[in-house]
Amino acid sequence: MSDDDLPAPRNTHFDRDKARRAARHPDRPGEHCKAEPARYRPVIDHGKCEGKSDCIAVCPYDVFEVRKIEDADWRPLSVMQKIKVFAHRKQTAYAVRADACKACGLCVVACPEKAVTLVPARKPL
Ligand code: SF4
Ligand code: SF4
Repeated sequence: MSDDDLPAPRNTHFDRDKARRAARHPDRPGEHCKAEPARYRPVIDHGKCEGKSDCIAVCPYDVFEVRKIEDADWRPLSVMQKIKVFAHRKQTAYAVRADACKACGLCVVACPEKAVTLVPARKPL
């Protein structure tokens, strides 16, 4: 990804070098920022996430934040997953601005835990 291909990031934590590396990943999914906002959304597996914020660093649209896992997401985890999440101070990622996602796919390949998937957003009923 050249600088010309990167949108002007809205994210003050944006790491251009990490984003470039993710952009070159052969398994990068999505539509390279060409999707209408909110046509896709990132889904985080809280049992895998270690809260290390690579997703924050590469998302040009500032979709993510990392904070303490919510009770509703903690309760269904297995014992092993709870141990893992606890070891990372119960910090986990949330897609708090998922409506801004343009399916660049960078978060999926940047996550070292393979905790992020990009899914088509549900159509309204
Ligand atoms: S989703 Fe992945 S990249 Fe984001 S905080 Fe969790 S482990 Fe890190
Ligand atoms: S695919 Fe991931 S990195 Fe790209 S805009 Fe959506 S949430 Fe952000």
